[in-house]
Amino acid sequence: MSVIADVIEKVKGQDPDQNEFHQAVQEVLETLEPTVKKHPEFVKAKIYERIVEPDRTLIFRVPWVDDRGAVQVNRGFRVQFNNAIGPYKGGIRFHPSVRLGIIKFLGFEQIFKNSLTTLPMGGAKGGSDFDPKGKSDNEVMKFCQAFMRELFRHIGADVDVPAGDIGVGAREIGYLYGYYKKILNEHTGVLTGKGLEYGGSLVRPEATGYGCTYFAAEMMATKGMNFKNKIVAISGAGNVAQYAVEKVNQLGGKVIMLCDSGSSILDEEGICSRKNAFVMKLKNQKRGRIKEYIQKYDALCFENKSVWDVIRDQDIKVHIALPCATQNEIESSHAEALVRNGCVCVAEGANMPSTPEAVKIFQDAGILYGPGKAANAGGVATSGLEMTQNSMRLSWNREEVDNRLLMIMRNIHKSCLDAAEAYGNKGDYVAGANIAGFLKVAKAMLAYGIV
Ligand code: NDP
Repeated sequence: MSVIADVIEKVKGQDPDQNEFHQAVQEVLETLEPTVKKHPEFVKAKIYERIVEPDRTLIFRVPWVDDRGAVQVNRGFRVQFNNAIGPYKGGIRFHPSVRLGIIKFLGFEQIFKNSLTTLPMGGAKGGSDFDPKGKSDNEVMKFCQAFMRELFRHIGADVDVPAGDIGVGAREIGYLYGYYKKILNEHTGVLTGKGLEYGGSLVRPEATGYGCTYFAAEMMATKGMNFKNKIVAISGAGNVAQYAVEKVNQLGGKVIMLCDSGSSILDEEGICSRKNAFVMKLKNQKRGRIKEYIQKYDALCFENKSVWDVIRDQDIKVHIALPCATQNEIESSHAEALVRNGCVCVAEGANMPSTPEAVKIFQDAGILYGPGKAANAGGVATSGLEMTQNSMRLSWNREEVDNRLLMIMRNIHKSCLDAAEAYGNKGDYVAGANIAGFLKVAKAMLAYGIV
């Protein structure tokens, strides 16, 4: 067996219940096969074996008291995967589906994503099975404080810098940072996604959705296409989806679909900036459900169906798909439906939203396909810019941060294409992203010796 196949087998055998982690490892390592031949020094130093094993895995109890006075117990995680090129960096996810295999897959992906940004950031991820849905602000605050009561001892501005992810937005970052500051008595760049009043960066909330749209635009430009008059389907209705809608509108496209975990909406007229402002208020302040959209606007609602289910079942024509909800949301039947209905470009705002079978369908059909670790790297890149501004104790203006984000996304796009071509996979963004991200980390690991 090849070195790569051996490592994949070992990972599967060691932790048989971590399916999402196996999926991520397999997807990355299989595309690294050409690096094995070119870099025997990596094989000798067992870089492939070492990179799939986290530096450390922290699992902790999070006890807190709800509004009725009852004690609740959740489980907290932080996987510090690899700090070869910089301090650990990666989001925190609060969702009932969170377990070790999910956090490991996200942390593993984060290593390569962060490397692609060219900023000095290692890979990590954290979270909890806590569900913020239906909780009062007071309960969310109590939980965040209990979570930070353990996490604080493992993080630091030069050690590990968490950020948001699913279920962790501006409100949660405020509570987490406020508690860290209280118990440590220091005001430092230990979290990103902070409010503007206390060290946050302009454009950080927008960065993942904007960056994903910039990446899609770059991919389309290679084929002489752009967003003008294109019909776009976006899944999710959270942070990434909302700002993807905003940027697509700015670039002249028309977004017709959004969803949350309860239902999908289809608005053939397009979700213009006024309607998107309604979605932002609905999801970020009222904490409502996307189906409430049809009470306000002329649109269709499909209960218990994702955007991709609706496209498949109703044969909706779309040119561009931006999955911005969660992992494995696009299965093979959805991918076939997208191809059948004229989709020319898929750029992933979410992490690993397409199953391996779906990715193969996109690639075989010759569709432009930008994997999450490249297409959604704008979020962590702008977090990196927030860290820089915190260290320098200054704030850049909106235009400066947005320009840097655009440049970073263009560079990531170029790095993917360059690496893909150099390693014999011309035009393959999956191989390109994985190889470009891996090489920098592997070379740094080699330089350190066996540690
Ligand atoms: P949010 O919590 O703000 O929004 C997530 C959205 O996706 C919500 O509308 C949620 O619905 C929906 N959703 C979650 N699970 C499902 C499901 N199973 N089916 C349908 N809809 C679902 O999270 P973000 O927007 O921050 O994150 C979205 C994705 O982007 C994640 O994969 C995340 O890892 C990735 N990402 C985020 C970054 C960031 O900067 N925030 C950076 C890079 C990647 P509901 O409202 O019902 O919960």
